[in-house]
Amino acid sequence: MPVLVFDLDDTLYPELSYVHSGFRAVAAFLSPLLGVPAESLAAGMMAEEAVQGRGQVFDNVLRQHGRWSKAMVTACLRTYRQHKPTLSLYPDAERCLARFANWPIYIVTDGHKEVQARKVAALGLANRVRHAYLTNRYGRHRAKPDPHVFQLICRREGVQPEEVTYVGDNVCKDFVGIKPLGFKTVRILRGNYAHYEADAAHEAARSIHSLDELTEESLSTSFQ
Ligand SMILES: [Mg+2]
Repeated sequence: MPVLVFDLDDTLYPELSYVHSGFRAVAAFLSPLLGVPAESLAAGMMAEEAVQGRGQVFDNVLRQHGRWSKAMVTACLRTYRQHKPTLSLYPDAERCLARFANWPIYIVTDGHKEVQARKVAALGLANRVRHAYLTNRYGRHRAKPDPHVFQLICRREGVQPEEVTYVGDNVCKDFVGIKPLGFKTVRILRGNYAHYEADAAHEAARSIHSLDELTEESLSTSFQ
């Protein structure tokens, strides 16, 4: 029985929607402290993220209002990480999960384990996959490209790597560790890595623009 494994962020849902959801939670937390409406704080954070990324967003919003301290930045980060996000699957991800509902489906995702668990819950995925492997639970050294949890999936399903297809977006780490072991790899071209050019070792065997391109037929043809 073939097994289908998905990455989470930017594969099944847009990661930026999590970031924005987190900014709204932090804005609600900061609003009474800074005396600024939450909507305008959130809009400012989103605008900054779009230009400079999220690295300094909390530092900068606190600085702009003369309230920077290490403790405040930590409080913002905690609010961000602990907030209960509101998220939706990409429409093609929703269709894909429905199409393969009878298949063994798994998720393999890196990142803060509690944050990733809250995303899985918010997306209603707990009942739609056999298990969501949060690599962080096995130690940082088990993050992709380490193949450890993929081997756990093989053991659990009693299958060889050749029967397992991994679908992900990040060419830097999603495929390079598992390809040499024989896993099938599919790159979904979206998110921050959509236009990233990878060498042969890092590139997936196959690239798609939409999960609608994943069909039973296309997954049973031989590619690696
Ligand atoms: Mg991803």
